[in-house]
Amino acid sequence: MNRTNLYEIILCNKGFGVYIKSMSVQPLRQPANPDALRILQKTYGYGAFRGEQEDIINHVTSGGNAFVLMPTGGGKSLCYQIPSLLRHGVGVIVSPLIALMQNQVEALKLLGIRAAAINSTITGGSIVQTKEAILRGEIDLVYVAPERLLMDDFLGLLDEAPIALFAIDEAHCVSQWGHDFRPHYKELALLAERYPSIPRIALTATADAPTRRDIVDCLKLKEGRTFIAGFDRPNIHYSILPRDNARQQILKFIRDNHAEDSGIVYCLSRKTTEETAMWLCTEGFRALPYHAGLPADMRAQHQEIFLKEEKVIMVATIAFGMGIDKPDVRFVAHMNIPKNIEAYYQETGRAGRDGLPSNALMVYGAQDAAMQRNFITESNAPEQQKRIEHQKLNALLGLCEAASCRRQVILDYFGDSCEPCGNCDTCQNPPQTFDGTVVAQKALSCIYRTGQRFGVSYLTDVLMGKDDERIKQFGHDKISTFGIGKDYAKSEWQGIFRQLVSLNLVAPDTEHGGLAMTPQGQSFLKEKKTLALRKHEGRGKVKAARKEAARQAFGESESDHGLYAALKAARMELAKEQGVPPYYIFNDKTLRDMVLLKPDNMERMALVHGIGEKKLERYGKMFVKIVKEYV
Ligand code: ADP
Ligand code: ZN
Repeated sequence: MNRTNLYEIILCNKGFGVYIKSMSVQPLRQPANPDALRILQKTYGYGAFRGEQEDIINHVTSGGNAFVLMPTGGGKSLCYQIPSLLRHGVGVIVSPLIALMQNQVEALKLLGIRAAAINSTITGGSIVQTKEAILRGEIDLVYVAPERLLMDDFLGLLDEAPIALFAIDEAHCVSQWGHDFRPHYKELALLAERYPSIPRIALTATADAPTRRDIVDCLKLKEGRTFIAGFDRPNIHYSILPRDNARQQILKFIRDNHAEDSGIVYCLSRKTTEETAMWLCTEGFRALPYHAGLPADMRAQHQEIFLKEEKVIMVATIAFGMGIDKPDVRFVAHMNIPKNIEAYYQETGRAGRDGLPSNALMVYGAQDAAMQRNFITESNAPEQQKRIEHQKLNALLGLCEAASCRRQVILDYFGDSCEPCGNCDTCQNPPQTFDGTVVAQKALSCIYRTGQRFGVSYLTDVLMGKDDERIKQFGHDKISTFGIGKDYAKSEWQGIFRQLVSLNLVAPDTEHGGLAMTPQGQSFLKEKKTLALRKHEGRGKVKAARKEAARQAFGESESDHGLYAALKAARMELAKEQGVPPYYIFNDKTLRDMVLLKPDNMERMALVHGIGEKKLERYGKMFVKIVKEYV
């Protein structure tokens, strides 16, 4: 049964409470499906559905098409896994992440789900076996890359086999507007034509409005329902610091908050990635580089270590992270600004998928903005696309300079909203402002008098009256703004120029990063407007969300911490034995729940979050024994 209306439900996910914020059409709620709940509890060991999961599952199980936009960690996988288990035939999951498919399959097998992957890393023999098993109806879920799905022999298989549904994961790859367009994804349009009676569910965590429209058009989901969960990731704490000394800033942040954790440090270039990793090692951390220029086997090895071991820092370019489902990444740090807010949100979104408190820190400077502008200008994209990219970059700079709640700025960008969150740097430490009218006038006038073509560093030198050959050559030591800015330090001028850019009073020209006045800048001068600017000094501290939360979880009890460590050690041992990441055995939330509940028999163990039938059977006894030793 396909629905004929497009419903748009905007949900806001705040901790455990979920409320409906706005709704264009009241959707008919699907009747509760006791079978779905039974699978959730028995197979996955979870007590209740989150947010819209149940509605999505019921809708797809009854044959409807769906587009699902849900933040990372929101629980998208269950939205196609459970319908695949409930419907007749195999669930076909299209994903671009070949390198991670095998891991996903292993994790499902631990739950007792019959999963398989077909891709270029798998031998011909086992592909044949998997295909036969699919035809016999013995596979619940099969993961394939789009290019594989589109091959004649795979389509031939699908023509023969019973199919439960098609799930298109990372669906933003369909769209040129998205941030990771993949041409093969576009060809998935054929699914609607070739298999019109089989439900399609497209899922993504990042898609702005044009991208969403593209996905719905391309995959022909108009007749289905659209589920949009709120974008908020309340467990992530955001901090953005102006660059002073990026290495020291990052080091202090990790030492103070995350000495025992796994995290990701994003760098702009391959070279800084390697240098930073090496330097973190000399500072006593286990840090590994990851970028597209490393040999494939080294990349695979580093990823494997990051997934399977604890306290590992991955220092990476943006080549790393897509589809990484490690739930206990406790921090994401950016040494430079990312490309735009979507990229920032996706990259920081890799922290805290398990819902536990996590931190995102960005260090940024004026040069970063110039560099990102260069990337855009020098890319081969059409002009229209470049204009969009420049606007997106401006929005990111606005976020960096925001004096209001960071989360509000981010959510606003995605068309969502929230109250000041109390869990970001600007909420916790509201920036001081000062009357920047005169100083802005000086800056603008200096830009004007030097011909609107110089960058921040040169302009600052002129304002500070520097004795400099180049300035003399241009005769700028003779203009009226030479030396009128000596009462501010160089770093303060940088902050002032950054803010003028983010307020759109001046704009860098896209070729050389030279600053020119915008129409708003001209009217600011002409109409003698006033301006409040943000002070930047003395804001180096990052309040972490994590330590507090750890205390809340177990209090100060020594024995609880001992039990937690013992459980973790046992988990690690099992993980090593089985060659899987520790969180496939149990995630941190499950271990914390054991510490709180102290299950000293199998019945109580079955109540622990994340323990379904299979895991109880496999690991229950062993963990009950450890608990008993501590009680
Ligand atoms: P996404 O794909 O949206 O990023 P996942 O599907 O990987 O998120 O889910 C994130 C985590 O939350 C996983 O560990 C998953 O098992 C867990 N999870 C999903 N749904 C629930 C639920 N209803 N109750 C408890 N945990 C859940
Ligand atoms: Zn806030």
